[in-house]
Amino acid sequence: MNQRLVLRKSRFSDFLTRYNDLHKSGFEEWIFYPGMLFQDPCKWWGDGGVRRRPHEGLDFCFYRDKAGQYHSLDKKTMIPVMYAGKIVHIGDDFLGKSVYVAHDMCDNKGNKLYTIYGHTNPCHGIDIGKILNEGDPIAAIADTGKKRVKIPSHVHISMVWLPESFPYERLDWEKISDCRSVTLCNPLEFIDGKHKVEQ
Ligand SMILES: [Zn+2]
Repeated sequence: MNQRLVLRKSRFSDFLTRYNDLHKSGFEEWIFYPGMLFQDPCKWWGDGGVRRRPHEGLDFCFYRDKAGQYHSLDKKTMIPVMYAGKIVHIGDDFLGKSVYVAHDMCDNKGNKLYTIYGHTNPCHGIDIGKILNEGDPIAAIADTGKKRVKIPSHVHISMVWLPESFPYERLDWEKISDCRSVTLCNPLEFIDGKHKVEQ
């Protein structure tokens, strides 16, 4: 059986909106701009130029409320984990830390599912080996206010399938993009909740 085909959707969006009381401000849907989506070649910030590599995941930053007002996530926003799993690695990225979580889900080729949460500030007690239930908060969004590159605070999510023998403790963003044995997939296909892509 190909589990990649039956992988159920994560309630990530539901957990995130509830933990951060976004429903109190009338959360309606996520807003994505070109550049935030999976495999998009361009940046959505600054001059909007070409990225060094096509986008390896999905960026969550903006949402719209029921009254049509736009909001952005702030540095206090807590990030939940997409599925139950175990933290296997924490590395740096250009805006903060990336948290790597292994899940007990395999595809028919024996590849294992990992989710990665980028540009974060991990919570106290979030460390390698920590076992997580679906929706457990793992980190806050990294504060980008003091960075030289002016990028709004946001969380980047990647979903990858890796061979069982892959040395995940050495994972970094270069390997995720360049390594042939890494299979990226589009997180938007596995995350529940409404969204809209705007130009
Ligand atoms: Zn991103």
